[in-house]
Amino acid sequence: MIHAGGIDLANRMKRGAVPEHVVTLGQIPDLCGIQEIGGRIEIGAATRHWEIENDPMLRCRLPMVAGYIAGLGNIRIRMQGTIGGNIMAGEPGYEMLPLLAVLGADLVFADWSTGGQEITAAREWVLPRASSSKTLLLTSIRIPLRPITVAWNRELRPALGLVASLEWSGDRVLHGAAAVIGDHRGPMVREHHFTEALPAADAAPRAANIAEVWADKFPDIDVLVGPDRDYCRHVLSVMLRRVLHTMLKT
Ligand SMILES: Cc1cc2nc3c(=O)[nH]c(=O)nc-3n(C[C@H](O)[C@H](O)[C@H](O)COP(=O)(O)OP(=O)(O)OC[C@H]3O[C@@H](n4cnc5c(N)ncnc54)[C@H](O)[C@@H]3O)c2cc1C
Repeated sequence: MIHAGGIDLANRMKRGAVPEHVVTLGQIPDLCGIQEIGGRIEIGAATRHWEIENDPMLRCRLPMVAGYIAGLGNIRIRMQGTIGGNIMAGEPGYEMLPLLAVLGADLVFADWSTGGQEITAAREWVLPRASSSKTLLLTSIRIPLRPITVAWNRELRPALGLVASLEWSGDRVLHGAAAVIGDHRGPMVREHHFTEALPAADAAPRAANIAEVWADKFPDIDVLVGPDRDYCRHVLSVMLRRVLHTMLKT
């Protein structure tokens, strides 16, 4: 069993899990730290939330990531928990995977049984696979550096959270990605392609319409929030409208 920050592991052991072996990642330098390499940020899987939140380079290059992580749990959790543990715990309410999905990040794994490397898009990571996988070690997370804005809404957590991104070309918005937080299957991500590259000033008055169209791309949202599909869709469209206003700075 892999021990990263040990938070979930300790809780599972308190509930009766008895690992045969425990491998601690914290002392392996290659799995810790944050670097800019070429056009991307690479974060070691054993890097603690608190280190990511306070890394000067990351705060400059991807300030919204630091802001998002500052809202996870509490300071004790962030000082102990790691980004890799958050992803591999396989808990639907944990928030790093949806963020990484809307950033277009990749997860880099080492396969202990073959010695090979496997790279999976964060948006395609399926949570049950995380808990059933015995041989995959998550080694790092790669986040491409693109002109992107991120916003989130945690008001209805733990039932439902939302994180979204907009990609820009100058002052024009090209593309959006939104992920709901709380789905037991993995990050439920839906994209929104703007028909033409839309100046922010033109997109802002249309935020309510864009949110309505975007919300329709989540037909199975009721599995998270409740049986009334129309109500769930309405709640999601309100959350989408709010994050759009934040990203468009209106
Ligand atoms: C009270 C509380 C509140 C919290 N609030 C939030 C919150 O608001 N938002 C949020 O997102 N999270 C929250 N968390 C989760 C927390 O942020 C940690 O990310 C999480 O507990 C995992 O931490 P860890 O690094 O200690 O993982 P560990 O407990 O060490 O590991 C978790 C699991 O992942 C496996 N694992 C760990 N690292 C790897 C790896 N590199 N490769 C393969 N498998 C690996 C382990 O074997 C284990 O099965 C909360 C946790 C607690 C206890």
